[in-house]
Amino acid sequence: MDPFGRTLSYLRLSVTDRCNLRCVYCLPALVQGLFAPPQELLTDDELIVLVRAFVALGFSRFRITGGEPLLRPGIVSLIRVFSRMDGIADLSMSTNGLRLEQMAGDLAQAGLHRINISLDTLCPQRFRAITRGGSLDQVLCGLEAAFRGGLDPIKLNVVVMRGINDHEIPRFVRLTEDHPLHVRFIELMPIGDTGFFSKDRWVPLEEMLEKAGEGLIPLPPERWPKGFGPARYFQRPGAPGTVGFISALSQGFCASCNRVRLSARGVLFTCLDGTDGVDLKTPLRQGASEEQIQALICQAIRQKPEHHTMKERLLSPRCTSPRLMCQMGG
Ligand code: SAM
Repeated sequence: MDPFGRTLSYLRLSVTDRCNLRCVYCLPALVQGLFAPPQELLTDDELIVLVRAFVALGFSRFRITGGEPLLRPGIVSLIRVFSRMDGIADLSMSTNGLRLEQMAGDLAQAGLHRINISLDTLCPQRFRAITRGGSLDQVLCGLEAAFRGGLDPIKLNVVVMRGINDHEIPRFVRLTEDHPLHVRFIELMPIGDTGFFSKDRWVPLEEMLEKAGEGLIPLPPERWPKGFGPARYFQRPGAPGTVGFISALSQGFCASCNRVRLSARGVLFTCLDGTDGVDLKTPLRQGASEEQIQALICQAIRQKPEHHTMKERLLSPRCTSPRLMCQMGG
């Protein structure tokens, strides 16, 4: 438990800071020098030791993320190790889906429980523009492979940006009427110095709900798709899928925040909002014992901020934060 009474049980584990997309809200146009050299990244053995330390402290839910986690060589074997570890009750992944067509079956067989796919538009040209060059078709093939592989539930994460994809909200809602998909609309956040975020591009929760249209029925938590994040879910009558909303700014959820993030470089961040992290890799490489690593994790948790300051930053002319998502574990 942290000093504000929050029980932390959820680790977002970044296995690489690299990505094969360059989404405008996530990365700057030029990434030269941004990504860590290979020797700076946690090795498989180090990841396993660190995950064990988190499990020993009561963490039971792990999301593999990045960067793009499917770019990490040997990711399937790593998932196999984690899925067999006592104490891990939930093992999920966030991916852009580009490599899922080839990998979804192997990931499911290795023991991955469920998957979130980031997909901000259903229009191929817009997809290329938002991701600076990606192929929508490739993601849709990945999505199909995830269904075939039996990953369940499958969630689609849609970051909503005014004037870019906000008019597609009804189209995404309709998807949930035809497929057992869980679409979540996510408020754009001012994270990292990408030069993209502005208050004008941010679409607050209330407006997302309005655009999603009438006929959405609030779902009681027992009928929400499996997950431990901050989404609130709705459903169109008779639809196989659901519609969720995640609003870090309009309706912050810091009071119930249950998560921390471990970056690919082995730095533990307790808040997305750019507070300094605690380096776990250096002590590990210097021979720290598992108990010493656990003590460092506890120390970081004691310093978890009560809340982020993203909303306050909306009012400042440059509402950036010091680190990009990929540098913390998105
Ligand atoms: N590559 C993986 C993926 O695409 O899901 C995992 C990493 S990505 C950084 C994780 C999530 O962060 C994605 O759903 C992405 O849309 C979201 N994200 C990145 N920057 C964001 C921002 N400024 N505001 C809101 N969501 C953001």
